[in-house]
Amino acid sequence: MNILSVASEIFPLIKTGGLADVVGALPLALAGHHMPMRTLVPGYPAVMQKLGDARVAADFDDLLGTPARLLAARYADLDLLVLDAPELFERTGGPYTDATGKDYPDNWRRFAALSRAGAEIARGRLADWRPDIVHAHDWQAAMTAVYLRYTGLQHVPSLVTVHNLAFQGQFGADIVPQLGLPPEAFSMEGFEYYGDVGFLKGGLRTAWAVTTVSPTYAREITTPDYGMGLDGLVNDRAADLVGIVNGIDTTIWDPANDRHIARPYTRSTLRHRAVNRQALVERFGLDDDDGPIFCVVSRLTWQKGIDLIAELADWIVAEGGKLVVLGAGDEALEGSLLAAAARNRGRISLVIGYNEPLSHLMQAGADAILIPSRFEPCGLTQLYGLRYGCVPVVARTGGLADTIIDANEAALSARVATGFQFTPVSAEGLRQALRRVFHAWREPKTWTRLQNQGMKSDVSWEKSADRYANLYSSLLLRA
Ligand code: ADP
Repeated sequence: MNILSVASEIFPLIKTGGLADVVGALPLALAGHHMPMRTLVPGYPAVMQKLGDARVAADFDDLLGTPARLLAARYADLDLLVLDAPELFERTGGPYTDATGKDYPDNWRRFAALSRAGAEIARGRLADWRPDIVHAHDWQAAMTAVYLRYTGLQHVPSLVTVHNLAFQGQFGADIVPQLGLPPEAFSMEGFEYYGDVGFLKGGLRTAWAVTTVSPTYAREITTPDYGMGLDGLVNDRAADLVGIVNGIDTTIWDPANDRHIARPYTRSTLRHRAVNRQALVERFGLDDDDGPIFCVVSRLTWQKGIDLIAELADWIVAEGGKLVVLGAGDEALEGSLLAAAARNRGRISLVIGYNEPLSHLMQAGADAILIPSRFEPCGLTQLYGLRYGCVPVVARTGGLADTIIDANEAALSARVATGFQFTPVSAEGLRQALRRVFHAWREPKTWTRLQNQGMKSDVSWEKSADRYANLYSSLLLRA
C-alpha cells in the first residue's frame, strides 16, 4: 500500500512546530508495516539546500499560475517529493511569514499549489509511482482532499489530520476563480465557509476520514468552546473522526544518547542529570543553589498559557523556584517575561528565539516543564519531558490530559503518576499545581519515583503507528 503524505513542514528539513516532528516521524514509524510513505513538501530554500542528487519526477507548465517541478529525493531516511516552484517558495522569511513576521499575502496560492500537486500525484503524474491513499496535514495541505473530490479522483481515499484547529487557512472569496476548481466546489459541501474560502474547512468536509492528534482533543473539538467555529462540521464528521496521540522519535530524543546534552543518563544513572542541571544553570546564568528549576520550551502565545506563567513568575521565585524559558512569539508576552527576568536576576532567565539543541539541554537539566496550555491538540514537549525525567506540569486538556498521569494520592501510591495536571486553566489553577510540585520536590523519594515512572512511559510511535496503519487499511477496504 503506497501512501502519499502532504505537508508544509517536515523535520529535520523545516520545522516551526510539532507538525514537522509528526510528519517526519510517521514514515519511519510505519516502516514495519509495509506501507511505504512518500512526503510531498514545498521547496523552501531550507529544503532545496539540503537536497543532494534530486531527480525531476514531474513537470507542471502551469500550477495555479506558475511553472513548477516535482523533485524526488531521499533525506535522512525520508522519501521526499519536493515541490520546486521558486515563485511560490523561494523566499527569505519563514515557511508562512516574511522576515518581519507578516503572513505572505499569497499563502492561499502557495498552499493551494501544494495541495493541487498532491492531487496530481494521485492522478498518476509520476511515471513510476502512484499512491493508494493520500494523507494531508493541516490547512496548508487540506485542499488536497478538495482537489481529489472535485477533479475526478473521489475514488482515492483521503485523510486529513488536524494538528491545530486554530489555524484554518481562511481567505476572501475573490481567490475562488484562481483555484482551478469547478464552481460547485465553492459550496457548503466543499470549501466555502460563511461566504469565504476555508482550506481546512474544505478538507474536513471532503476527506474520507479525519484524525486529530489525541482522543481528548477529538472530543473537545466537537464542542463550541474548542471547535473554533468548525464544531458543527466536526460533529457532522464524528463517525469518521479519530484521535491518535503523537509519539516522539525516541532516537532523536534519547537521554542515553543525545549529543546536545552535557552528560548522558538513563533511569539507573539519574544522578548524572545533575551535570546537565549544572550546564543549564551556567547557560542561563542562574544562581547555583537548591530549589526546582522549571523550564518552558514553547511558542510564546495565549494558546500556550504563557501569560499565566508571567503572572506567577515572581511567586515561583518567592517559593524558591527558578524559571528558564526558551521561545518566541507574542511581543507582549515576551515583554512580560523579560520584565520578570529583570526583576529576578539569577532566578528567571530567557532565551528568545528558536534553538533545537538548547531545547534538549533544557529537558535534560530542568526539574520540571510547565505547559499550561488553554488548548493543546497533542503537545510534544510533555512527551520529551517524560523521556528525560523532566516532570511535566500540564493543563488538563487535549493531548496533555491523555499523556500525563496526575500525581494524586491514588496514582502516587499505585506508582503510576508521571506528572501534574491542573484545571481550571488559570493562574490560580497553575498555582495550586505548583504548590503540589514544590511539596513533591521536597520529598526526594517521591520526586525520583515520578521521574522514573515518566521515563518508563511508552512515548514511542509504536502504538500510534499501528493505529494509523489500521486506519489506512480500513480506508483501502472502503475503497
Ligand atoms: P506546537 O506545535 O503547538 O507549537 P508542540 O508541543 O506540539 O506545540 O510542538 C512544539 C515543538 O517545537 C516541540 O518539538 C518543541 O520542542 C519545539 N519548540 C517550540 N519552541 C521552540 C524553541 N523556541 N526552540 C526550540 N524548539 C522549540
